[in-house]
Amino acid sequence: MIAERGAKTASTATRMMFVCEIFSAIQGEGALVGERQVFLRLAGCNLRCSYCDQPEALVKKRGTARVEVRAGSRRWEQFESPMLVDQVVSLVERLLRQLPHHSVSVTGGEPLMQADSLFPVLEKLKAAGRLVSLETNGTLVGRLRKISNLIDYVSMDIKLPSVDAEDVPLDVHRRFMEACDGSKLAMKVVIGPRTSAEELASAMELVHAVCTSSEVFLQPVTPFGSVTEAPSPADVLRFHELALRIHPRTRVVPQTHKLIGQL
Ligand code: SF4
Repeated sequence: MIAERGAKTASTATRMMFVCEIFSAIQGEGALVGERQVFLRLAGCNLRCSYCDQPEALVKKRGTARVEVRAGSRRWEQFESPMLVDQVVSLVERLLRQLPHHSVSVTGGEPLMQADSLFPVLEKLKAAGRLVSLETNGTLVGRLRKISNLIDYVSMDIKLPSVDAEDVPLDVHRRFMEACDGSKLAMKVVIGPRTSAEELASAMELVHAVCTSSEVFLQPVTPFGSVTEAPSPADVLRFHELALRIHPRTRVVPQTHKLIGQL
């Protein structure tokens, strides 16, 4: 599931991107929580996490993308997807100009599935002086290398099999972390009622060994789809203590955008 298949290098492919939506919202997770961002959600993912709340973003296919007309209005225009990269940049910039935003969040799906097309988009955003944050499942290290110098923040998941029902070897995450500049990297670990102390400890030991200065955000799973249970308050305290004893730069942050009824 985590092989880096299907990378396209042909020029036509790199001029087009499969987009799900573009909108302005409040970041609800991780190191940039509470910041206003323009979200560029791309289609396609190489994983299938059990709690995934973006099922429409899992497959790269022809269809429609929705784009907010005015930042925060939740009024939408429809566009055919895939879209030209210049059009994507222009629609992102349209929202950025309407009110002060901290940065652009490139999310998915797994945005690195479209690293070749993302490259010119990021080049243009950086040329305009924009900050860019990448939200990634931390598995496609080869594709990260193509765009890493154009990214200001990386929010990387560490997948625990007990929560994600995916079997991502920690060594895959290790290689991804090693390819990131630690100063821009933060990690998110979703925890659930069946998370084991051993698997969480292994993940925290890896972080502490590879990215000592990076922050980790434990995120209690939000029930969605086949996931019906969140960890208990006692579980969260216990997991936090365990994580702190290994990697002191660990905080607990739930999905705050869902608490306040945001996208
Ligand atoms: S990596 Fe993210 S987008 Fe992909 S299946 Fe998991 S939660 Fe969903």
